[in-house]
Amino acid sequence: MIEEVPPGHEHHTAAGAQREPGELSPFQAVNRFFEQAADHLHLGDDLRAVLGCAYRELRVQIPLRMDDGSGRVFIGYRVQHNGARGPFKGGLRYHPAADLDEVRALAALMTWKTAVVDVPFGGAKGGIICDPLTMSPAELQKLTRGYLRMIDHIIGEKRDIPAPDVNTDAQTMAWIMDAYSARHGYSPAIVTGKPIELGGSLGRAAATGRGLVYCLAEAARSLQLDLDGARVAVQGFGNVGSWFARLVGVLGCKVVAVSDVGGGVSDGRGLSILAVQEHARHASTVAGSPGTEPISNAELLELDVDVLVPAALSRVVNGANANAVRASVILEAANHPVSFGADQVLADRGITVIPDILANAGGVTVSYFEWTQNLQQFRWDESRVNHELQKTMSTAWRRVHERATRDKVSLRLAAYATAVASVATAERLRGYI
Ligand code: GLU
Repeated sequence: MIEEVPPGHEHHTAAGAQREPGELSPFQAVNRFFEQAADHLHLGDDLRAVLGCAYRELRVQIPLRMDDGSGRVFIGYRVQHNGARGPFKGGLRYHPAADLDEVRALAALMTWKTAVVDVPFGGAKGGIICDPLTMSPAELQKLTRGYLRMIDHIIGEKRDIPAPDVNTDAQTMAWIMDAYSARHGYSPAIVTGKPIELGGSLGRAAATGRGLVYCLAEAARSLQLDLDGARVAVQGFGNVGSWFARLVGVLGCKVVAVSDVGGGVSDGRGLSILAVQEHARHASTVAGSPGTEPISNAELLELDVDVLVPAALSRVVNGANANAVRASVILEAANHPVSFGADQVLADRGITVIPDILANAGGVTVSYFEWTQNLQQFRWDESRVNHELQKTMSTAWRRVHERATRDKVSLRLAAYATAVASVATAERLRGYI
């Protein structure tokens, strides 16, 4: 299922690709990655049991008076997967497929992601089952405030800190900050990804895309990839995909294809991303950008490129197309863009996959910087934010790559093993088990 999402949101298209028959559920799939790491680390059954499920899952109803006078009840969730390393942290998504299993999977990914980059947070995720594209700004504001009312008792500046995700943005965070502050006093650190004017961090909007570029640069150095003139295809042109496409040129790569829900465009000589962005601003899709060739989302995934960057949907690389992928590197900008089965196929085919919990961790890393700035009532300039982000991404890459080389395992298994070991140690030190 592909939804159109207004520009400026965390991802252009939303998660929730159709599940193949017999395919694992999103949480089962993420947990299989966890179990592989647990096997690799010889983790005891006690810790496996603790880390294999969420600390707490809250389901709430949000009654809403719609603009047309009708009454509706929306269902929302907040899953707090693990809090051993710090306050729960993770985004809030508005999507028809944001069911409990999807939100639980995304919460678990946040636990492993914050541990890989070693920011002092646990993992959480929120979701509301809704179709935001059919709702007015007034309805969305009421929905957000209603959700906040229902989860108010389990979040806090030092307890659980939401952020933007699919179909939510800085405006959504501003409403949450306002509603929470009205109850508890001025609390900018209750959410990250806020507008700059309300205490957001400089550099947060670009952070996930920029972090991907830093990660790719490190990967190229370690794996001896020649990025000069390398061909890159980006699926998804929302916040993450568009920032990445704009910034990746500094590595010498050329972006030869981008796509979104409305279709895609390609140019073998390299696209002008600013021109494509300008077109998308008016047309609400990259499709039809002047001077480009049309390409479908499915074709883009199978393009003969050096680096494929899925930046939108979950499980877009799956059993149906894993054998047709021709890129030599997949940089996972979206959360869980490669299904569990496809991951094995890609590994067997010798394709390097730079896993989501490492590659796209720039967003939550700058969320951490935003949170520290809020707690200190102090603002960093953008160069400091970007410099600290680069340090964090480089260190994380090195830890993961060293483990992958030493243990002769994939980058995904090395990233999970790094994360699981760190969370398991925190569980033990706290005396939980
Ligand atoms: N939604 C983003 C992610 O999936 C950012 C989460 C955050 O900053 O807390 O990583």
